[in-house]
Amino acid sequence: MHWNRKRQIHYAIRRALALRCPACGYGHLYSGGWRLNDTCEYCHARYEREPGESLGVTYLVSGMTLILILGGFWLIDVVLDADPALYLSVWIGIVIVGNVVFYRVARALWIAFAYLTGGVYPDPDYEREYVAPGQKAPHYER
Ligand SMILES: [Zn+2]
Repeated sequence: MHWNRKRQIHYAIRRALALRCPACGYGHLYSGGWRLNDTCEYCHARYEREPGESLGVTYLVSGMTLILILGGFWLIDVVLDADPALYLSVWIGIVIVGNVVFYRVARALWIAFAYLTGGVYPDPDYEREYVAPGQKAPHYER
């Protein structure tokens, strides 16, 4: 793998974990907590091009939450030998916290992945024109 490509992946993941634009690292992915911005306020990269693109995030979050649940089950049942009522309350807590904590980061990583595979780039007139994945947006000038 080329050195620059390695660095690009490294930066994209680091920016995603910081909930920043994977392309420039300055723009915020979210505004006001949960709402994903359409584009980066600095480099105008479009975060999500395909409607329902973030559906894969749901699977990602579910998978990570499942790992937490299994880990929690093992911890409570095997290590702590706790009673079922305590287990149930902890389990519900894990599910809620797992989804809340993971969703934003998982979606950010999903966008970083889209960026690394060429799916996140600036496009003009995004409110009027839908650019399908794989198609080149018209030349962008600022
Ligand atoms: Zn940006």
